[in-house]
Amino acid sequence: MKVMKFGGTSVGSVESLLNLRDIVNAESKPVIVVVSAMGGFTNQLLAMCEQAQQRDISCLDTLEEARKRHHDAVDGVVIPAMRDQVHATIDRFIDESLKPYYLALATNPHMPVDEIERVCDAIVAHGEILSSAIVTGMFEDGVPHLSLNFMRTTPDAGGRVLDWEETEHLVKADFASLDEGVHVVQGFISRDKESGAVTNLGRGGSDYTGAILASLLDADSLEIWTDVDGFMTADPRTHPDATVIPQMTYAQAQEMCDAGAKVIYPPTIAPVAMKHIPVWVKNTFNPSAPGTVIVDE
Ligand code: ADP
Ligand code: ASP
Ligand code: MG
Repeated sequence: MKVMKFGGTSVGSVESLLNLRDIVNAESKPVIVVVSAMGGFTNQLLAMCEQAQQRDISCLDTLEEARKRHHDAVDGVVIPAMRDQVHATIDRFIDESLKPYYLALATNPHMPVDEIERVCDAIVAHGEILSSAIVTGMFEDGVPHLSLNFMRTTPDAGGRVLDWEETEHLVKADFASLDEGVHVVQGFISRDKESGAVTNLGRGGSDYTGAILASLLDADSLEIWTDVDGFMTADPRTHPDATVIPQMTYAQAQEMCDAGAKVIYPPTIAPVAMKHIPVWVKNTFNPSAPGTVIVDE
């Protein structure tokens, strides 16, 4: 069984979602598909939090644009039998969850700082909640899984860390009978083990979700589907002469990620390295390109 993680650009448009569908349909099932929020939406959700705290209610206009973007994606990619349900899911999360959260931020000048943080964490989780509803609805055999039910964090001095023990127990229970089908999971999002509050694994954390699941479920491989042809010698945005590295070791990949290679979130490497699970970096927009494989030697 494979874990395939698709990043923000890979779920960010009808065109890329159709590529995702073809890539996943070419796999033997079961397969686990981990998704990020639609490209740019996490940044928007956080920017709207800032606006709402400044009592700038124009954040609700941005929310309407985001609603339209998600509905357009549903019309473009979701199977007809699922469309009404996914449209309704999107409206429900926007109207009954996101809007009330933003209004609470905008109208409560005395909200304590830790409460503001809690609300913003709950808000930012909606990126993956909405994109995963769309991706699940693209497949006749799509099976939804809720990361908030099994990814657990604990507070740490510098932020939050994964609670491996609790997460292992819950992941194994949630995926106990992994039948045929496309099992769709939200990247990035989690809950605090003690309080149950919505948390996350840090910006770029969907890669880490993929690695955690691959490791705990002994996947055959982890595939990171993104918008470049593989792990490259440098960021192609700033180094146009960068070239794809066909094969790397976990240690080499870790070193480059730690040095800032954004293509993989740094905590991703260790859980898969420990289990000797190969990691592929592949391009959703050019799936026939060989990509990069990260292995022991
Ligand atoms: P995703 O949304 O798919 O997770 P990211 O934006 O997080 O994608 O990561 C992919 C981006 O990482 C590429 O578009 C590229 O600009 C950047 N990047 C930085 N360093 C590297 C590198 N060494 N190799 C490939 N891409 C890199
Ligand atoms: N959506 C989150 C972010 O933008 C997580 C991810 O994409 O990996 O940081
Ligand atoms: Mg990323």
